[in-house]
Amino acid sequence: MTLLDGRWIGKLYSGEWKPGGGKTHDVLSPATGEVLGAIGTATPEDVTDAARVANDARVEWAARPYTERAAVLRRAGDLWKSHADEIVDWLMRESGAIGPFGHFQVTTSAEECYEAAALAAAPYGELLRSHEQRLSMSRHVPVGVVGVISPFNVPTILAIRAVAPALALGNAVILKPDLRTSISGGAVIAALFAEAGLPEGLLHVLPGGADVGEAVVADPLVRVIAFTGSTRAGRAVGALAAQHLKRVHLELGGNSALLILDDVDIEKAASVGAWGSFVHMGQICMATSRHLVQTGIAADYVSALAAHADHLPVGDPTTGTVALGPIIDEKQRDAIHGIVTRSVMAGARLAAGGTYDDLYYRPTVLADVPRTAPAYTDEIFGPVAPIVAFDAVEEAIRMASDTPYGLSLGILTTDVTRGLEIAEQIPSGLVHINDQTVNDEATVPFGGVGNSGTGSRHGGAKANLEAFTDVQWITVRGSLPAYPF
Ligand code: NAD
Repeated sequence: MTLLDGRWIGKLYSGEWKPGGGKTHDVLSPATGEVLGAIGTATPEDVTDAARVANDARVEWAARPYTERAAVLRRAGDLWKSHADEIVDWLMRESGAIGPFGHFQVTTSAEECYEAAALAAAPYGELLRSHEQRLSMSRHVPVGVVGVISPFNVPTILAIRAVAPALALGNAVILKPDLRTSISGGAVIAALFAEAGLPEGLLHVLPGGADVGEAVVADPLVRVIAFTGSTRAGRAVGALAAQHLKRVHLELGGNSALLILDDVDIEKAASVGAWGSFVHMGQICMATSRHLVQTGIAADYVSALAAHADHLPVGDPTTGTVALGPIIDEKQRDAIHGIVTRSVMAGARLAAGGTYDDLYYRPTVLADVPRTAPAYTDEIFGPVAPIVAFDAVEEAIRMASDTPYGLSLGILTTDVTRGLEIAEQIPSGLVHINDQTVNDEATVPFGGVGNSGTGSRHGGAKANLEAFTDVQWITVRGSLPAYPF
């Protein structure tokens, strides 16, 4: 049995599949340009209606035994796996992901649901000391309706990582996926929870543009926003959320550094670096965006990385024979190429790539990148590896920190203790010693600092409990106290 049997065509999901108030949107395959289907889109009025339905539905959901919520989440986890091939097929065709990266998304999305199921059963409060004769405690209670706004690049994980824990903790959810990946990042999730037996009205999937996202943020019944996307849009979402006095979790862009010290094996380091910059065409917030290499090994590292780049096959992921698929659309490809071109004009040396055919961008290596060039200063979000050499480690620490972003950091060295000492001096939400910058698991508190986010976290029981609940202080006395009045 297929998960998506066509019920979604021309529709959005608001407890049931139905037409939205907006025009239908043609979802395109970046690999072939083929129209994969027209999905229904929402209007701000649809958001208002969904928030009302969600706010009604969440009361009974929160009152149910936790075992029932956990069971729905466990079934959802199983369904990611039993429908894996179909979902990966959508991810390949809709987002340009290669098969293995699609399977990684499906496996991690299932894990997100299993972790959320466990969260439904986890302790949710504390006993507090009191100088009064009373029981004093704090407990986490559902916030009500959670709004989730997700980007195109890793559509299933970046939606489910908030949807699953929010539901498990007794909330209802409105998910607004990016229009470009609204099938794998929206319709799939709606169909999956419907099949898992989630009661009607608790999950609404409303594809749309920024206006629909803004309506989700502004709706008075939506109490918490989990936003993943660009720093530019995150700033707007943060400002709007502040105006409406609501909590917002912002997971934004990055410009992450990989420090490569001269005591490492160059060939192995180049393989690690190639993965960090080229996996999923570099369209990952944690992508290795600057390779900072110690001078003694810099020339050999450039050659080794360029050899990797030159050998990676690029093409239609559905053929199963490529390492990189297409860039999501022309706008994104042109932004990548603009950064490469301007950086070369600024003095960077093109060691590999720098060319494209339609949406297929060759993995690119830029050496000797000036610290004022856009490949050094900006988030590229494409398969580009800018390399800069450094002499002393102190200089590398300054360079790695020389960015308003602070999402991920990798340090390659045989001296692990030194690696940890270096990491302490560079602001970053995620740090990997002897690995590149792209790492994610359902059990970890994920998030960035600076322009990469508000420092709040998704992932793991502790961070998710904080993210999607309110804290309530409760006291209980055995009898009425006597007051002087
Ligand atoms: P984007 O900011 O253009 O869009 C993300 C989502 O926000 C989409 O659903 C979009 O429709 C919506 N949106 C845009 N403007 C909005 C507004 N004013 N109000 C409400 N919603 C709005 O991002 P993108 O191009 O789809 O994704 C790429 C960006 O996302 C990169 O910068 C990347 O680094 C970042 N990202 C961050 C993480 C993380 O966890 N830190 C993960 C993945 C991607």
